[in-house]
Amino acid sequence: MKLILRGHHLLCLKGFQGYGYDENFVENMTDVNVKRKQTATSIILTNSPDDICKACPNLKNGICINETQNEKIVNMDGEVLKKFEIDKEYNAVELFKKVDAIFNTKDSVSKICFNCIWHEKCLFYQKL
Ligand code: SF4
Repeated sequence: MKLILRGHHLLCLKGFQGYGYDENFVENMTDVNVKRKQTATSIILTNSPDDICKACPNLKNGICINETQNEKIVNMDGEVLKKFEIDKEYNAVELFKKVDAIFNTKDSVSKICFNCIWHEKCLFYQKL
């Protein structure tokens, strides 16, 4: 199983607890969250629409909501992707171990999570 994930979604998956934009989105994200924990899964990183965005009602014409919002999202991806290689295929479990080691303080995610509408509900952010 191969997943394509945009950079900032590595953190979203760690904090996911069943909230989302609609039923279809939650169902898909739940499925991705199960797969990303399996050792047979590999992950390719991107800064464009991914396997989570594909079920999102905010994805319009291949971008997130609008140009302004999309730019913010791509910047969030970029902050995570500074630590990883875009387009490289990672083992999912190993990749998330690295994520755990790098993004483990509120300071380490300040440029990524601060403006996110979900950060008050996000288990990952709240536990930092
Ligand atoms: S389209 Fe935007 S809001 Fe929807 S999952 Fe992708 S980045 Fe998140």
